[in-house]
Amino acid sequence: MAGTGTAHLRTEHEGDVILSVHNLVVEYATASGKVHAVSDVSLDIRRGETLGLVGESGCGKSTLAKAVMQLPPPTSGEVIIDGRDLTAISGRELRTARQPVQMIFQDPISSLNPLRKVRHIVAEGLEVAGGRTRAERTSMVDEMLSVVGLDPAAAGDRRPHEFSGGQCQRISIARAMVVNPELVICDEPVSALDVSVQAQILNLLEDMKERYGLTMLFIAHDLAVIKNISDRVVVMYLGKICEVADPDQMYATPLHPYTAALLSAVPEPDPEIPPAELALSGDLPSPHDPPSGCRFRTRCPRAEALCAEREPEIRELRPQHFVACHFPSTI
Ligand code: ADP
Ligand code: MG
Repeated sequence: MAGTGTAHLRTEHEGDVILSVHNLVVEYATASGKVHAVSDVSLDIRRGETLGLVGESGCGKSTLAKAVMQLPPPTSGEVIIDGRDLTAISGRELRTARQPVQMIFQDPISSLNPLRKVRHIVAEGLEVAGGRTRAERTSMVDEMLSVVGLDPAAAGDRRPHEFSGGQCQRISIARAMVVNPELVICDEPVSALDVSVQAQILNLLEDMKERYGLTMLFIAHDLAVIKNISDRVVVMYLGKICEVADPDQMYATPLHPYTAALLSAVPEPDPEIPPAELALSGDLPSPHDPPSGCRFRTRCPRAEALCAEREPEIRELRPQHFVACHFPSTI
């Protein structure tokens, strides 16, 4: 995998597209050299769509999410929201242009200010946006707390440490949703939660999607988590895109050997059945010095000489099913 290219972009529907990321590169300068965290990634999200972004820990998912928000700005590439390239603007102009985007993070407790009361945490974005009276803000906050399943009278005056992880994630969701965002980036929003609570939070996010026609970039390291919530899934490996498809198609017939390996690691719903052996050998290679050609080749059961020589370009092998691999599964 580790492909490059833009065949999967929906340029012909530009009007529908809320977010376009073109040729995004993020490199971190560290004492031990350059980290190639995101290397030439392009993707787009249509209005009302949930794009699932999945890949092993360390493959660059959070880096990509932060680069969308320009926190920090990427090394190169474009991030276009509502037709504006965020990489070309700064200061107040940038803050205004990214206002339609909200983020929900993995660690619900540490992403909330421990010193503030819940109603103030949820009201923060409304205060920044301005233009509303205190009474209007209070009623919007109370309503949103109810929508996410918290009793505003009981929860509003308490602080984050008085809540469970799942409840804190409800507060994070209320904080994001109260400003009526166009796009919400959820960076592993359930990874830190117990399995039973994960299902509740996923259901809540699905409710939000229905109720508000929300557009989401939903990040996970586990394909099982994003299957039901995503309209389209992008699989990443070591800073590159491997495969793009709708979830049913991807789960039924993965084309990329990396996707197939990730799927084989998805646990069976029946706890009596042991999880399948992860078909991947070895660890993720160092992003300091990624393999030449296809970055997945060092762990790929199908790798041949070509894979070291040439990077595979992403191509549409089936309708709306894209893969960056020299030797994809035969169809
Ligand atoms: P993911 O979210 O998929 O787990 P990340 O985007 O957090 O991956 O990280 C991608 C790679 O970039 C990893 O190798 C990680 O160690 C590295 N990385 C992330 N943030 C920094 C940073 N601020 N400085 C240096 N390296 C970083
Ligand atoms: Mg991450």
